[in-house]
Order: sequence, then C-alpha cells, then structure tokens
Amino acid sequence: MAVIKVPPPPVDRNVFFQVAGYFAEIMKGMRLTLGIFFRQLLRMEKTNTLEWPEQPADYGDRFKGKHFLTLRDDGKIRCTACFLCATACPADCIHIEASEHSDSRIEKFPVRFEIDILRCVFCGMCEEACPVDAIRLGPEYAMAGLAGDKWVYTKDYLAQRQELVGGVESIKAESAKHIDTGADKRRSYLRHGVH
Ligand code: SF4
Ligand code: SF4
Repeated sequence: MAVIKVPPPPVDRNVFFQVAGYFAEIMKGMRLTLGIFFRQLLRMEKTNTLEWPEQPADYGDRFKGKHFLTLRDDGKIRCTACFLCATACPADCIHIEASEHSDSRIEKFPVRFEIDILRCVFCGMCEEACPVDAIRLGPEYAMAGLAGDKWVYTKDYLAQRQELVGGVESIKAESAKHIDTGADKRRSYLRHGVH
C-alpha cells in the first residue's frame, strides 16, 4: 500500500502583523464599548437597559404570562371542570378533580384545579381550548421563588391572588356558553404595574 507523505504546514512568517491586527480589533471594540458607556453615563444617550423590578416591562397584549381562572357574576369560579384544557395541554401540567355542583343549572365544578407551572410551556393551548373563558394567561411574568410547593398553582391562587384585585370576571355569561367573543377583551385586565 502506498504511503502518502503529507508536507508540514508552511511556517507563518507574518505573526507580528497577525498579533497587531488582533489587538487593533480589540481596541476598536473597546473604543465602541467605552464610547457607549461614557455617553450613557453622561446622559448623552438613552440607555436601553430595563431597570427591573423598579421599572416593569410591558411585553404587549399577546404576551402569555401567569394563568388565572375567571369568575362568574356571583364570584364563584367560571370553570365547569370539562377537562378540555387538561386534554389540550401538551405538557400535561393541569390537574383537575371534578364534582357535581349544588346548583342544578351547573353540571360540574372543580374541587381541585392545579397547574404545575414548572412543567408549563406557556403555549396558551388551555386558554384556546376552554369553551367558557374560564382560564386565561395574563400579563404577569415575575415568577421567581425558592419554595418547592410554590410552583403548583392552586385553584384559590389562580382565581383570587392579590394581583387579580378581587378576581377577573369571565366575559362569557352562563347563558352564552360556546359563543365566540373578541380576543381583545380577554386581555384588558391589569395591563399596568403587574409583573
Ligand atoms: S399554557 Fe400550555 S403548557 Fe401551560 S398549562 Fe396551558 S396548555 Fe399547558
Ligand atoms: S378551565 Fe375551561 S377548559 Fe379547563 S376544565 Fe375549566 S371549563 Fe374546561
């Protein structure tokens, strides 16, 4: 079998220019960075850095943040425990236990409704699947924490947490089940100051 001898790579005799070019590029970058730094320090240029949490971000109306359960006129949660959201959820993170309602006009209600938020991918499929506007994804995005059980949102937390200021009424009345309504109305709560 023939052996092919591979010649060694040519010795680069231009190392000085390569190193000089390398430092020249670093200096160019530093000049740009320091220029921006001092212009913003001297208030000659607006900084694009968001000073969170003092300065909350507004991600716009289509942002899908922390879930909440809406309420009926009487203040009870709107959910009828139909399991459509849990079925549609690709992350399998919605857990519902249904029970018969004492009001014969309402077939079922959830005695337990939990979302394991660490599994949630915030896709909004639950919101889309719900026929009675009982679950929505709102504008809240701050979810930092340490405690383990904090990450399973309970029914009470989803419907009555402090940020919901007494709860959010569903835009669908009992008599208007399954009627489509404008998506813009769904987004109209707590647009400002919630994060
Ligand atoms: S946003 Fe998506 S992943 Fe999260 S609970 Fe709803 S359907 Fe499941
Ligand atoms: S939130 Fe909506 S889709 Fe989910 S169980 Fe309740 S009524 Fe059904």
